[in-house]
Amino acid sequence: MSAYKIIDHSYDVVVVGAGGAGLRATLGMGAAGLKTACVTKVFPTRSHTVAAQGGIGASLGNMAEDNWRWHMYDTVKGSDWLGDQDAIEYMCREAVPAVYELEHFGVPFSRTEDGRIYQRPFGGHMRNFGEAPVQRACAAADRTGHAILHTLYQQCLKHEAEFFVEYFAIDLIMDADGTCRGLLAINLDDGSLHRFRAHTTVLATGGYGRAYFSCTSAHTCTGDGHGLVTRAGLPLQDMEFVQFHPTGIYGSGCLITEGARGEGGYLTNSAGDRFMERYAPTAKDLASRDVVSRAMTVEIREGRGVGKSADHIFLHLEHLGAETLELRLPGISETAKIFSGVDVTREPIPVLPTVHYNMGGIPTNLHGEVLRPTADHPDAVCPGLMAIGEAACVSVHGANRLGTNSLLDIVVFGRAAALRAAETLKPGTPHRPLPKDAGDLGLSRLDRLRNASGNRSTQQIRLSMQQTMQNDAAVFRTQSSLAEGVQKIGDIYGQLADIRLADRSLVWNSDLIEAFELENLMDCAKATITSAEARKESRGAHAREDFPDRDDVNWMKHSLAWVDEKGKVTLGYRPVHTYTLTDEVDYIVPKARVY
Ligand SMILES: Cc1cc2nc3c(=O)[nH]c(=O)nc-3n(C[C@H](O)[C@H](O)[C@H](O)COP(=O)(O)OP(=O)(O)OC[C@H]3O[C@@H](n4cnc5c(N)ncnc54)[C@H](O)[C@@H]3O)c2cc1C
Repeated sequence: MSAYKIIDHSYDVVVVGAGGAGLRATLGMGAAGLKTACVTKVFPTRSHTVAAQGGIGASLGNMAEDNWRWHMYDTVKGSDWLGDQDAIEYMCREAVPAVYELEHFGVPFSRTEDGRIYQRPFGGHMRNFGEAPVQRACAAADRTGHAILHTLYQQCLKHEAEFFVEYFAIDLIMDADGTCRGLLAINLDDGSLHRFRAHTTVLATGGYGRAYFSCTSAHTCTGDGHGLVTRAGLPLQDMEFVQFHPTGIYGSGCLITEGARGEGGYLTNSAGDRFMERYAPTAKDLASRDVVSRAMTVEIREGRGVGKSADHIFLHLEHLGAETLELRLPGISETAKIFSGVDVTREPIPVLPTVHYNMGGIPTNLHGEVLRPTADHPDAVCPGLMAIGEAACVSVHGANRLGTNSLLDIVVFGRAAALRAAETLKPGTPHRPLPKDAGDLGLSRLDRLRNASGNRSTQQIRLSMQQTMQNDAAVFRTQSSLAEGVQKIGDIYGQLADIRLADRSLVWNSDLIEAFELENLMDCAKATITSAEARKESRGAHAREDFPDRDDVNWMKHSLAWVDEKGKVTLGYRPVHTYTLTDEVDYIVPKARVY
């Protein structure tokens, strides 16, 4: 091991990830006077946040009356009562100042005639506790994530944040007492190894969409933070809840934002029928994503799909007119042209439900502190470790996330993590010596993979995993598909021992990085399918044909999944927070969902 040269760094805080969550946290930590490093495997403005299109939710009330309590109600209902209501209250209240803060940072939001931030309708966002759709999604045309990410990066530069760009975090450094002490990373450019010491390590590594074959997320969304925590002996939470977005472009999986339906777009089947009117008479095409995805799947299954193989659905925008499309949806007009050859001003876009978002992730409280739950202390905290953004499970999205609530989540909890660190850390506090074996876990994995000479390539193993997840942990699930999936993913996990790497160098070894990413994805896949098999009910995005109803008596609880180094999954559960944060709003009692 000593053959590897290691460079040591000391910081108050190290943030892993430079998407919206990581940048907002980095900015806040720096502003609090904490010496902060931001480590990222891609250049900050290439993080997946850049692809977010539709908008960020906040009850500004610029288009019509709105109220954070309505936003909270919609979010709880959308979560199918799995979300923690104290955290949801916090997010929806903080949404309004968070968006104004972004505006003051310089985000170029679209504007109303009188110069206020433009807001569009989005699925599941309603006025007056579910009465009718409300315009709550603050948008910068259909490039909201792009606008937010670039602005946050500029703010970080202004505050002279320290970036380690194209550094890949391999593993956390944990003390014997379970405190996180920092992490080991590799500089992709020259293969040098870097040990970051920090009083707080913040994981802002994004989702794990790439565990599936067809997804809207970037190739870099490989659940690295999830892998880091499972190897540190910590659990993942609610991993069975994987959101399918109704409108991925047929064939490529590229996203067509829900904002397209927010602007008046609608779906039709082979009979030209606007079928959402049957499934969700009030919200129609703007029902929440799980509802629309299932309705589309039923239409296709019952033979009413469009196209030669009757295996997809049409999304119509042509009636909106070229001018509106150019003003409000320029990005998706271009995407539709490139990826499906469709001119949106004349013809419908072929679409299909596609994996889009991971509700589950690293369990945290509303300050971003990672949990190490035990039966007696379900909210116990792991010292020195935080997680935010899509990598985390606060949980504000519960079993199903509403559109626009993720961009909100990343800025609100990125800020919350910084506020907590400012409260608990004193800038420049000396570090205790690192444990003797600090970094050994990461080093031994690096050495093993670099020299791996088995019989299977990373690509082969990854493809089998992605296809199994796509088929067996899909929009609709049954006991037999899930049990088969658990078995298959177990077998594929075993294949990791037989991996072969072609490149043995240390300079820009993408072969090595993809193998690291695959190991992380496999932990996510294992946790997802095992938790899904165990949950015998339907809730939010987890739709079981054999258990069609929600079962609040037995299953209103968060799943926990520990994945050990052999891939064995141990499940546990922790209670949902059935209380609010303040007495300014009442606990929202579970009820049947009416659409
Ligand atoms: C196409 C698309 C459109 C969307 N549209 C919307 C929308 O309109 N509204 C909305 O609310 N939500 C939307 N979402 C969801 C939302 O954009 C994401 O959930 C959110 O942006 C995730 O942000 P993040 O900061 O958590 O992670 P990301 O933006 O994914 O960033 C992850 C960061 O972690 C770094 N990283 C990861 N692993 C490592 C490692 N091992 N070492 C070092 N660095 C690492 C990466 O370099 C990157 O900087 C959309 C998602 C997609 C895919």
